[in-house]
Amino acid sequence: MKRGFLLVLPVALLAVFLSLGQASAFENVGGYLITAEGKQIVVDEFVNLLETYTCKYDGAPLTIPMKRIKRLKLQGSGMAVTTTNGMTYNVLGSMMICLDDYLEYRTINTVTGESLDARIDPMLVESVVFGRKATDLKKCPLCGRTFPGEYLYCPYDKSDLKPLMNR
Ligand SMILES: [Zn+2]
Repeated sequence: MKRGFLLVLPVALLAVFLSLGQASAFENVGGYLITAEGKQIVVDEFVNLLETYTCKYDGAPLTIPMKRIKRLKLQGSGMAVTTTNGMTYNVLGSMMICLDDYLEYRTINTVTGESLDARIDPMLVESVVFGRKATDLKKCPLCGRTFPGEYLYCPYDKSDLKPLMNR
């Protein structure tokens, strides 16, 4: 009986470890959003993100796990959903991706590096792109563009890049 217990325990621990790992990796997703006016907002982390996106595809209800979505974009009277494997589907749906009626996120003041809680009416959002957390990004002090953390120099003007956020 004791031997059986010892075999079961590591499997149970592994299952718990995997589920925790997946949950936290997804909850910490960042990226950016583009407003209807064309303004780009860096998102360090989306807050209260739904686990699934519900829409209609070809007249039938479709539910997509949010972690399979790379981009949501307004497309005519519907939405273009681009998945993480690069496929784009034109669906009927909305920009509602959070538990709340608002799209909630933490953004970065790119001048001071401060993290700020923010929210926006989904009706005012043109696209949402999921990607890296802003804490992993760097910024060019000269032209203000942001780049992945592994970049050392700005490819446009060769300036040394600085972390986007103060730590
Ligand atoms: Zn630059």
